[in-house]
Amino acid sequence: MNSTKTFDDVFKLVCEYVTNEERLDFIKRAYKFAEFQHSGQYRKSGEPYINHIIEVAYTLAELQTSPTTIASGILHDVIEDCGVSFETLEKEFSKEIATLVEAVTKIGRLSHISEEEFQAENHRKIFIAMAKDIRVILIKLADRLHNMRTLDAQPIEKQKRISKETLDVYAPIAHRLGINTIKSELEDLSLYYLDRPKYELISILLSRNETERNATINMMVKKIEKLLSQYEIPFSISGRAKSIYSIYKKIYVKNRHFEEIYDLQAIRIITKTEVQCYEILGHIHNAFRPIPGRFKDYIAMPKPNMYQSLHTTIIADEGNVFEIQIRTDQMDEIAERGIAAHWRYKEKKEYNPAYEQKEIEEKLHWFRDLISITKSNSEDAKEYMEALTKDIFEANVYVFTPKGRVIDLPNGSTPIDFAYKIHTQVGNSAIGATVNGVLVPLNTVLKTGDVVNIKTSKNNVWPSEGWLEFVKTTSAKNHIRKALIRKNTEVKKDELIASGRNTLVEALSESKIEIKEFIKKVNDQKILEFYSFDSIDDLYLAIANRKISLQALIDKVISVKKSSIYAQIDDFNTTKTVSGIQVNSKNGIVVKGIDNISITIAQCCQPIPGDDIIGYISKGLGVKIHRKDCPNVKNETKRYIEVEWDTNPPLLHQHQIEILIKSSDRPNLLVDIMNTLAQNKITVKTVTAKTNQTNLTAYITLNILVSDTKHLSDIINVIDNVTGVYEVTRTTKN
Ligand code: MN
Repeated sequence: MNSTKTFDDVFKLVCEYVTNEERLDFIKRAYKFAEFQHSGQYRKSGEPYINHIIEVAYTLAELQTSPTTIASGILHDVIEDCGVSFETLEKEFSKEIATLVEAVTKIGRLSHISEEEFQAENHRKIFIAMAKDIRVILIKLADRLHNMRTLDAQPIEKQKRISKETLDVYAPIAHRLGINTIKSELEDLSLYYLDRPKYELISILLSRNETERNATINMMVKKIEKLLSQYEIPFSISGRAKSIYSIYKKIYVKNRHFEEIYDLQAIRIITKTEVQCYEILGHIHNAFRPIPGRFKDYIAMPKPNMYQSLHTTIIADEGNVFEIQIRTDQMDEIAERGIAAHWRYKEKKEYNPAYEQKEIEEKLHWFRDLISITKSNSEDAKEYMEALTKDIFEANVYVFTPKGRVIDLPNGSTPIDFAYKIHTQVGNSAIGATVNGVLVPLNTVLKTGDVVNIKTSKNNVWPSEGWLEFVKTTSAKNHIRKALIRKNTEVKKDELIASGRNTLVEALSESKIEIKEFIKKVNDQKILEFYSFDSIDDLYLAIANRKISLQALIDKVISVKKSSIYAQIDDFNTTKTVSGIQVNSKNGIVVKGIDNISITIAQCCQPIPGDDIIGYISKGLGVKIHRKDCPNVKNETKRYIEVEWDTNPPLLHQHQIEILIKSSDRPNLLVDIMNTLAQNKITVKTVTAKTNQTNLTAYITLNILVSDTKHLSDIINVIDNVTGVYEVTRTTKN
């Protein structure tokens, strides 16, 4: 197929929705650059390479994408085919353009991967790119569309491979994004190359009774027009062609006869408002006989790709069957262009792509799941990816919450999958479920239309390990595994509390004191407040973890006057010299063999008990304590001095430390993190947060107080379990 379009055609189309001169000039400049770079290059078909660029840009303009997207589409092959560098693109245009083109290039290279690895690998990379920026996917779809249109020029083997990839990867993505125009064309073209005999058979069947079919449709259209014109409802009406691939699927996958396919005769009615859709439906059902069980209300229950419409099937007097689709013009646009309709460029004073992406991200909730999974490099990543791919492409059970919210789940999902989709906490504390009001086992397979109600219990906070055997969704599996790991540590905590209490009882028996009496004294003297413990269990835990010195505690409780706590705080902060060994109680650090020297904790690496540490002598400043692996002192071995943590610090001391949290940005993220920390009694000194609008990642820096490395790793675990968080690290400054 030789291209006859020119850049002028593209430009005319763009001018229909872009008026800003500067942006229009930008597109022109991108074209001049691409034209120059691709000059002398030809496609396999023999036509100039620039034709491909024009076609891609034209498709993007048809979708009314932004000027940046059009320009990136125009430049999409200059890195790969002309050797233009990222830096050049950045300098000539912008960093945004360079980034988009580079992302498109990277996806393109994946087509060269061996057939074995190709599928999963490619899926993943495309998804990452998609999660990062939807514009990359729109460009890639436009690129693939033109490559499919010109696939004839390629050798047969390549035709098959590309078509298979298109059918397995690109068409489902277009479908999932609701871009029906591109999806249908990609599918039909793929079928043409993969199974030409069947493609041709269906074409022949379609054309053989085309005249007859057109006549019946026209007759029906006239009848409906007459019917509706009695009422004051605006409408337009059209017969609708069915794509070859969709008929192929019904015949060869669902085993239907060609004659059986009702929607071969389909009529679409477009009106203005949602209410009018239902009005029209009412009139049609009054005038014609609807086939039971064929009515579908996708207005009240949109498909996951945002598709909305009413579908019904009626029988006319002559016995002809018609599928009728009724929708508003806005719904129709979304039906054809899907996400691209939402993404459509609207000229505003301040254009904010990040905001729009955020909006779309909310519509496509699986984006987020995707980001968190593609970030992990573990062995299981492949398994996850495959499972996730299934979640996405086979999502076709739609069930309801008791309040009528629609939840989409993959085939074979159970009430537990449903529960985790509602909220992690609902999943973790589920004890039973009703489906359509009837109590059912938790492994019951849900069907479309089921109303599911999950019974939870406050006493039941842990999922059952057995659930892993029947849950279907990847996210439920992950949540269950995570919760089970947490459960194990909590159980361990209970054991530690018991052992801490035992240790105390034993120590007290040596001093001949009853535990009851001791606890009374602890309460009287407000010892728990002094240590910032909330309960006696915290005290037992601290004893078991050796975070406080048992003897110091007993001495303090037994022998101390009520008013002396403040004196002890002073005590706590002074530096004592004990027989030639410097013990700095404040920092709990022992410097071997050195007397009377000031000790400070290095702020770059903020060592805490449990870290391997080294002292670093700085002139006039005493000893600075660094972590052994701190890059700032690594090569300064001459000035090292041996130091160690005081294994028996007189009192519990907390150390300030900085951690960095990376998370996908979402509403209430910071609130959830702060609540989690408060619940776990973690003192927060400072918080700073910022969001990167390009990758929608939130970066939160916290300065918190911790006891030691074990305490720190517990805290990191806790934060890691907050929804959306994908990385928590201790920071080291240079
Ligand atoms: Mn290309």
